[in-house]
Amino acid sequence: ELRLEKFTKRFGDTTVIKDMDLTVGSGEMIALLGPSGCGKSTTLFAVCGIHKMNGGTLHFGDRDVTTVPAQERSVGVVFQNYALYPHMTVEQNIGFPLKIQKLGKAAIRKEVERLSELVQIGELLDRRPAQLSGGQQQRVALARAMIRKPDVLLLDEPLANLDAKLRLEMRSEIRRIQRETGITAILVTHDQVEAMSMCDRIALMKDGKIVQLDTPEQMYSNPRSQFVAGFLGNPP
Ligand code: ATP
Ligand code: MG
Repeated sequence: ELRLEKFTKRFGDTTVIKDMDLTVGSGEMIALLGPSGCGKSTTLFAVCGIHKMNGGTLHFGDRDVTTVPAQERSVGVVFQNYALYPHMTVEQNIGFPLKIQKLGKAAIRKEVERLSELVQIGELLDRRPAQLSGGQQQRVALARAMIRKPDVLLLDEPLANLDAKLRLEMRSEIRRIQRETGITAILVTHDQVEAMSMCDRIALMKDGKIVQLDTPEQMYSNPRSQFVAGFLGNPP
């Protein structure tokens, strides 16, 4: 379980997140959905520890990680532009987080094989990122994010760079991998269809606040405001 309580974030004098509460259940995948600039990425950066929080607390299960440095949190992150290392092979990319932990070659190889099987790119291990399609690169990024067996997986617009067909395929792939591993996950997106089709619950954000948090079905059939209805494409 992941629990954000009274999370506040400021940049200079501007408060972009104010007193946000969000609990993601163990094994649950939640979408942070909302328009550009509402604070989705800022929330992810705080959860993974890249940004310091200006107020509030963050727990992973019983552990208070509010002030724990990013590298000591059990988190895997896939950023919007996936940022694979272009000079490394797929195998080296996936294994990199273990290499910096100074794990032995054979042990790394074994884990890379486990992950490449999970994301189904076993035959691509010797290629470099430039020799892969967008969807394949996305799988590599996912494998790399998960190789240290994190408790929490954070995905920031993971499908934004893919064409429509690949986007559909990767929606169900990411969901399959999340279910198979039982990992607790947050998916950031501004695409309501993506949020509704991939996630157990949706946190709809506006101006740094969660305006409604519900299952896709509840949110669609019982939007609590005009904004929610409009955003889900189901205006009253
Ligand atoms: P998008 O869908 O466009 O990615 P988002 O919901 O992820 O949007 P954030 O990146 O979280 O939005 O930004 C929230 C607000 O915080 C925006 O107004 C943004 O301009 C501001 N912001 C984000 N990062 C910084 C920063 N490093 N310094 C100053 N302001 C920032
Ligand atoms: Mg963003």
